Amino acid sequence: NGARDRQSTTARSEASKPRFKGGSLGVSNLDMSYGDLDVLKQVTLAIKPGTVTCIIGPSGSGKSTLLRCINRLVEPKGGDVRIDGESILAMKPEKLRRRVGMVFQHFNLFPDHTALENVMLALTKIKGLPKAEAERIAHARLTDVGLEARSHHRPSRLSGGQQQRVAIARALAMDPEVILFDEVTSALDPELVKGVLNLLADLGQRGMTMVVVTHEMGFARKVADQVVFMDEGRVVEVGTPSSIFDHPQSSRLKRFLAEVL
Ligand code: ADP
Ligand code: MG
Repeated sequence: NGARDRQSTTARSEASKPRFKGGSLGVSNLDMSYGDLDVLKQVTLAIKPGTVTCIIGPSGSGKSTLLRCINRLVEPKGGDVRIDGESILAMKPEKLRRRVGMVFQHFNLFPDHTALENVMLALTKIKGLPKAEAERIAHARLTDVGLEARSHHRPSRLSGGQQQRVAIARALAMDPEVILFDEVTSALDPELVKGVLNLLADLGQRGMTMVVVTHEMGFARKVADQVVFMDEGRVVEVGTPSSIFDHPQSSRLKRFLAEVL
């Protein structure tokens, strides 16, 4: 779309950066409950390869639970999730971890390991790569997120924004087809938010398939190919940024936008 074309002309050294091979993601009739509480109700989404989908909605509407189901951190009660047509329900956990990356609000880095080691760990542990190969990839991904110079720092010596970049480099290192981002800027100091959002936009430009739960409506409007509005465990509206933000249909979305914009 127009917004993304405009961006690509302004992005720096676009040509020198590797392209990602984003996969498709299909969610169909997903149901999930915590005990008696139905948290996801018949959630269906179609996400094309190399696109950015932003999920917005009030707190408690099931956004995090949806991401957790896609990555099978929790088990759905019904329905299916498919990565490039292949159901995650039939996939071995290690394979799913390789194909779908996740980045959280609170980074979840190992405090006693350096940035480089944090990125290397999944490569040696999950992918089973030899150490030298893992180190080469980790350096490359830290360079991708602009943190090469901080490779040997521990998380405590990095800013929140830098820690989040390490977490993103760690997700990228697995060479996933899809990356899920759950409010990755919500814990950051305000002046660090923009840098991380610019990095996400850059990954989207380079073809990664991304599902981004966010409260940053400006980001969703500018970067998303598709915006999904969830409320009370349901997908209430799906559309382009312009249809969601400028022409909301449901009273629930209108009310939500009136509160956040
Ligand atoms: P969101 O990310 O949109 O804020 P969540 O997916 O975190 O929403 O939560 C959806 C609902 O599920 C909320 O009512 C929340 O209280 C409930 N919930 C989330 N995690 C758990 C859990 N581990 N156990 C029980 N209830 C949970
Ligand atoms: Mg959440």
